[in-house]
Amino acid sequence: MRLVVLGGGESGVGTAILGKEKGCDVFVSDFGKIKESYKEVLIKNGIDWEDEKHTESLILNADVVMKSPGIPEKAPIVKKLVEKGIPVISEIEFAAPFTKAITIGITGSNGKTTTTMLTYHLLQSAGLNVGLAGNIGKSFAEQVAEDKYDSYVLELSSFQLDGIINYKPHIAIITNISPDHLDRYDYKYENYIDSKFRITMNQTEEDYLIYDADDEAISEWLQKNKTRAKLIPFSLTKTFEEGAFIKNNTMEAIINQEEFKMETESIALEGKHNLKNAMAATSVAKLMQIRKATIRESLSNFQGVEHRLEKVLKIQNVQYINDSKATNVNATFFALDSMNTPTVWIVGGVDKGNDYNELMALVREKVKAIICLGVDNKKIIDAFGNVVDMMIEVQSMREAVIMAQRLTEKGDTVLLSPACASFDLFENYEDRGRQFKDAVHNL
Ligand code: ADP
Repeated sequence: MRLVVLGGGESGVGTAILGKEKGCDVFVSDFGKIKESYKEVLIKNGIDWEDEKHTESLILNADVVMKSPGIPEKAPIVKKLVEKGIPVISEIEFAAPFTKAITIGITGSNGKTTTTMLTYHLLQSAGLNVGLAGNIGKSFAEQVAEDKYDSYVLELSSFQLDGIINYKPHIAIITNISPDHLDRYDYKYENYIDSKFRITMNQTEEDYLIYDADDEAISEWLQKNKTRAKLIPFSLTKTFEEGAFIKNNTMEAIINQEEFKMETESIALEGKHNLKNAMAATSVAKLMQIRKATIRESLSNFQGVEHRLEKVLKIQNVQYINDSKATNVNATFFALDSMNTPTVWIVGGVDKGNDYNELMALVREKVKAIICLGVDNKKIIDAFGNVVDMMIEVQSMREAVIMAQRLTEKGDTVLLSPACASFDLFENYEDRGRQFKDAVHNL
C-alpha cells in the first residue's frame, strides 16, 4: 500500500514511522520546511521525503493519504486528491486500527488540554498503563508503533476529527462548543459543530459520550441528531440520575449507579470552567473503575497546565496570573469569572471576530483597569472605554506588566487573558505567556 503523508511535523513523521513498520511504501511531502530533527528521523527510518514542494506525480499515486491537521481541506493538493477519489484521513484514523488499546477522545472549543491532562493524571495515578497523545506531545501513531500502552487519552481537534472515517473512541468527551476556526468551516458555525460531533459518529451502544449539558450548541445538536453512545451529561446547574453535577458545593458523579462525591473546595483547579473539566474527567475515571480515594487525591493535587490560569507570583500581595492560552472570548469569560479581587486585565492581540458584550457584566464587576496590548485595540476601547476607570494602550509585554504593577494596590490581581490570538506581537501563545512570566519575575 502506498501511504503518502502530507506535512512533516509531529503527526506526519509519527504516521510515516508506523506506516513503514507495517510494510507500507511511505512518502512524506511538506510544502513548507521540515525541521532538521524530523528529517533525521525520516532518514534514519529509510523513509522518502521532500520539502518546500508537493510533487504531484509522487503524491497522486497514493492508495491512502494522511493529511496533517494544519493543512486546510482547501489546499490545492488536497482538492486534487479528493477529486481522484483517494481517501484523505487523519493520523488517528490511520493509527487506531493498529492498536487494541482503549481510547478516550476529548474535543471541544475550550478545555481540551486541561481535561486531557487531568484525565491522564487520574488514570496514571491509578496505576493504569496509559499514554497521552493527540494534539499533545509525542504523536499517537508513533506510540502505537511502539505498542507500549493499554489505553490512551487523546486530545482531538476538529481538524483531526474531520479526517476520521471509522475511528471511534470508547469514551468521548465534548467539553463545550463556541465559535472558533470558522475560516476553516466556510464561516458556518453549524459546520464547525458537526465537525466536533464526528467524535461520536461511529460510537455504538457499548461506548460513552460525556458532554456539557449547559452548552446550548451541544444540547441543540443532541435534540436534532442521534448518537448510539450512552450519554453522560455534566452540569453546573442541573442534577441527573446518571451524570455529574454540583449540589451544595459538592461535586457528585453518578456513573453506572455508583456515586462519587467531593467538596468543590478540595478540588485544586479553580474556576467554574475547571469544575466542568473536573466533572468530565471524573466521569471517565468512574467508567474506568478507578478507586474513589485515588480520584479524590488526584483532583486535589492536580496543579493545572502552564498558560491556563497559571499563578505566576505574588508580589507585594498582588497575584499575577498567566492565562495566555485564552485566545477567545469564552475562555476569558471564565478567567474573569474566577477572579476574586479587583483585577487589572491585560487583553488584546489579533481579534477573531470577538463579541465583547459577553464580558460586559464581568468587567463592570471585577475589572479596575484595562491594559490593551495588540493590533486590534480599537474594539476593546470602544467596548469598555466607559465601563472601567482606567484604560491604557501599550506596545510590549514588559510595558504592560510594569504598567499593571503601577495600577495595583495590595490584594489586587493582574490577569493576562487576551481573548485574542497572539501572532501580532508573539510567535504563539506560549511565547506570549513566557514573556509575561519573565516580565513579572523582573519586577
Ligand atoms: P484547549 O486545549 O481546548 O484550547 P485549554 O485547556 O488549553 O483548552 O484551555 C484554553 C483556555 O480556555 C484557557 O484560557 C483556559 O483557562 C480556558 N478553559 C479551560 N477549560 C475551559 C472550559 N471548560 N470552558 C471555557 N474555558 C475553558
